[in-house]
Amino acid sequence: MKSSNYDVIIIGGGIMGTSTAYNLIAEDPSLRVIVIERDLSYEKSSTALSMVNARIQFSLKENVLISQYAFDVLENFEEKMVVDGKKPAIFYRREGNLFLYHEKSLPAARRAFEMQNELGCAIEWWSLKKIKDRYPIYENLDEIAGASFGPEDGHFDAYSVLMGYRAKAKSMGVEFVQDDVVELITSEGAISGIKTAFNEIYSSSHVVNCTGAWANLILKTVGIKLPMEPVKRQVFAVKHKVRLDYPLPLTILPSSFYFRTETGGLLLLGKSMEEDPVGFDFTWEDERFEYLWGELYEFAPVFEALKLVKGWAGLYAVNIMDANAILGEWPEIKGLYLANGFSGHGLQQGPAVGRYITELIIGKSPALDLSVFSPLRIFEKTPIKEDGIV
Ligand SMILES: Cc1cc2nc3c(=O)[nH]c(=O)nc-3n(C[C@H](O)[C@H](O)[C@H](O)COP(=O)(O)OP(=O)(O)OC[C@H]3O[C@@H](n4cnc5c(N)ncnc54)[C@H](O)[C@@H]3O)c2cc1C
Repeated sequence: MKSSNYDVIIIGGGIMGTSTAYNLIAEDPSLRVIVIERDLSYEKSSTALSMVNARIQFSLKENVLISQYAFDVLENFEEKMVVDGKKPAIFYRREGNLFLYHEKSLPAARRAFEMQNELGCAIEWWSLKKIKDRYPIYENLDEIAGASFGPEDGHFDAYSVLMGYRAKAKSMGVEFVQDDVVELITSEGAISGIKTAFNEIYSSSHVVNCTGAWANLILKTVGIKLPMEPVKRQVFAVKHKVRLDYPLPLTILPSSFYFRTETGGLLLLGKSMEEDPVGFDFTWEDERFEYLWGELYEFAPVFEALKLVKGWAGLYAVNIMDANAILGEWPEIKGLYLANGFSGHGLQQGPAVGRYITELIIGKSPALDLSVFSPLRIFEKTPIKEDGIV
């Protein structure tokens, strides 16, 4: 049995793990940091299976601030992550997000819009006329009472961001290994290390759990159960014949059905549904497309002819208490940090989460106070409220 000592052990090498690793080493190059990832192909990681959207349009102030920071990081990412003269290409395209509201959700949406404006965000409130003028193909607005448009929202290549963080962190001294962490080791109320499937022990007084939808499996080994479930979500890519002179923004209907254009004449669409199964199921069910196509056709009949090209299924790590991040040190185990429960909006939160966890570990005053996401709220049964969950 091999044994090694580290300042920080990060379990899981998705966006949370790699961003945290990068931020730690950038903050203090003398730190010994290791990221242990069970599958370096990232085949099942949510980071590689997402809709890659980053948006300002949340109702909780901290989520807005997190996204403002993400925009900033993404804008400068390619320059900042240069390694040996090579820049990552992240294809950051700010093509906008358009949220459409029913009458009943209008007051909450207006409140969020006003808060976003106060924070200096470029968000626009749109009338039905404005929607029709801008996107005439959105013909059926019968049940829509208003909309908000975020011109700076958009999407990017998540895998390139992941690889960019990884390459940069590695070049600065972070170790990345492929292994499966099977046990957390504690001693007198504090974390002392982890054990892997290869029977190796890694010791540290700081361990960060970045295992996404799998978080509860490893936490179980020290008796922790977060209010969190892995839930299957599916995405569909279709070819269309509509001549569009402009990209369609990520358009989110009140039912939470969403779609946007993608390069190559594709349209991406999906919807979080009540019946989406809980568990580690990655089977993609193309039969669901018929139902989604119906919803799209009703809203924009111009999409009457579509060809399903491909799709995929990935997991949301759904926080069933309040659908928001669970961030910070676990109150009952010193040195065990959580970056979990991001539901459907974790990718864009990676940069801010990595910085925040770093600040907690090194004892630096946080640039952005994210204590509202503390795991303490699970003990205190005080959920936070976010209306912008998709
Ligand atoms: C279909 C879909 C669409 C989405 N769309 C968006 C979007 O548009 N915008 C957005 O912001 N978010 C979106 N999300 C959510 C987002 O993808 C996640 O919140 C985010 O990627 C979570 O990152 P993570 O690092 O926590 O998890 P992951 O990327 O899943 O990484 C966790 C890693 O931990 C590893 N691991 C697990 N257990 C162990 C272990 N015991 N030992 C070693 N390694 C382990 C896994 O292999 C995995 O690589 C979407 C998700 C899905 C599924």
